[in-house]
Amino acid sequence: SGTAPAPGSAALEDLPPLRSVIAAHGLAARKSLGQHFLLDLNLTRRIARAAGDLSHGTTIEIGPGPGGLTRGLLLEKAARVVAVEKDPRCRDALAEIAAAARGRLELLQADALQVELTALGPAPRRIVANLPYNVGTPLLIAWLTRIAEDPAVLQSITVMLQREVAERLVAAPRTKPYGRLTVLTQWLCEAQLLFDLPPRAFVPPPKVVSSVLRLVPRPAPLAPASPAALERVTQAAFGQRRKMLRQSLKSLGDAQRLLEVTGLPETARAEELTVEQFCALARALPSEERDGA
Ligand code: SAM
Repeated sequence: SGTAPAPGSAALEDLPPLRSVIAAHGLAARKSLGQHFLLDLNLTRRIARAAGDLSHGTTIEIGPGPGGLTRGLLLEKAARVVAVEKDPRCRDALAEIAAAARGRLELLQADALQVELTALGPAPRRIVANLPYNVGTPLLIAWLTRIAEDPAVLQSITVMLQREVAERLVAAPRTKPYGRLTVLTQWLCEAQLLFDLPPRAFVPPPKVVSSVLRLVPRPAPLAPASPAALERVTQAAFGQRRKMLRQSLKSLGDAQRLLEVTGLPETARAEELTVEQFCALARALPSEERDGA
């Protein structure tokens, strides 16, 4: 549609550079909020494109800050963006983008850990974000927990994270980053590392390299298991990741029996098991252990 932006507001392409927006609204980055801003629109558009087709349903952005990625999403033709930002200082800067976006951008001042995804807009829903690294892992676990309840809640998750965390999500067995978060993630989603960004891409630069990661929920989990049981098994196994399972699974009851039933060697260690093998262990747990003691 060729409708003009609201009177007195700029078109998206004509908004001032992000550096001036940050200066004009006094948005000095706060460490406590994990603020590392992306100011290069070529880069934020690239992240937006990595999220795939945005022309249907709801694109959920967590932590828009001054709005660099928000602009990227809108420029890449997102039909509707809902941007959830905790920092009230960002409101005016984001309102300017909303005015230019002619109804395609909705702002929500809230803690992303508290919002219910389905309340943000109709499916297909996707999350696209340069995540605040201090709450990145809890946010991912919260979304995965929702996907375990209903895989249709999200179509995809495309997020910037510390490379070290991203590597845990895509890890293969018998590697150092393979752990509880890997098993939970890959049980529910296909996970793919897309590209890295150096610290200097951000203002202020973080201490570590960042990666863009994409998760696509599987239509059904890789193998049957209850989330609580799987959690108990991976917690016990990776809690003592250097020990053999006959030792590390003792806290779950008769470890010998568990290994017999599942056909796993007693001498195996947590990092050698596939996701499917963890699911088999979860199914073999005695019922009183399965739902969390
Ligand atoms: N999207 C912007 C960009 O790429 O330049 C900012 C990314 S910055 C890494 C993370 C953003 O998340 C900040 O704007 C911060 O205020 C916001 N944030 C931090 N904790 C949050 C939370 N619990 N809920 C919502 N937003 C949060």
